[in-house]
Amino acid sequence: MGSDCKHVLEHGADLLHLDVMDGHFVPNLTMGPALCASLRKALPDAYLDVHLMVTDPGQYVDSFAAAGANHFCFHVEAVSPTDIAALIARIRGKGMEAGLAINPPTDLSATEPFLHLPDLVLVMSVNPGFSGQSFIGSTLEKTRRIKPRLRRDQRLQMDGGVSPSNAREVRDAGCDVLVSASALFGRPREERGDVIAKLRG
Ligand code: ZN
Repeated sequence: MGSDCKHVLEHGADLLHLDVMDGHFVPNLTMGPALCASLRKALPDAYLDVHLMVTDPGQYVDSFAAAGANHFCFHVEAVSPTDIAALIARIRGKGMEAGLAINPPTDLSATEPFLHLPDLVLVMSVNPGFSGQSFIGSTLEKTRRIKPRLRRDQRLQMDGGVSPSNAREVRDAGCDVLVSASALFGRPREERGDVIAKLRG
């Protein structure tokens, strides 16, 4: 994994996005702080963007900060609206940037009161849980509505089913951070630089 990650960073990728799943918020288990720490050790200069698809993200702020994460993104569906601002402050207090994610079925109104707070807003374009799912095109409408509400220093990320075939639409809908897993790592190494160039446009 370290070797594959180093390769894509040397061939145009800006950052590594780590999908953390707890088998409860989503029906799958993936990586945790130990794997994040291993990637940090292997790649001291990589920007590690950790996406927590977990029921209680606040429980993992300290461990991912200690594991070398640069960015900690949690789901609006997982945290009480009254706790969101405090959680973002805690994440920043640990030296990380903070992201707020929203699932496809969740109405934009759930994030609207908080859009000014995070460093990044993540619009999920599949229902989270498994890599390799088809892109849900209607989520582009959500990013189009969010984009004008963000400041210039806030990023808009799309995650799920993003590939060279829909990257232009995703960028045109206002996204400036594109996450790609199977469309990139599912290709042979020698094609990955070209995939990244196409995502970037
Ligand atoms: Zn993700």
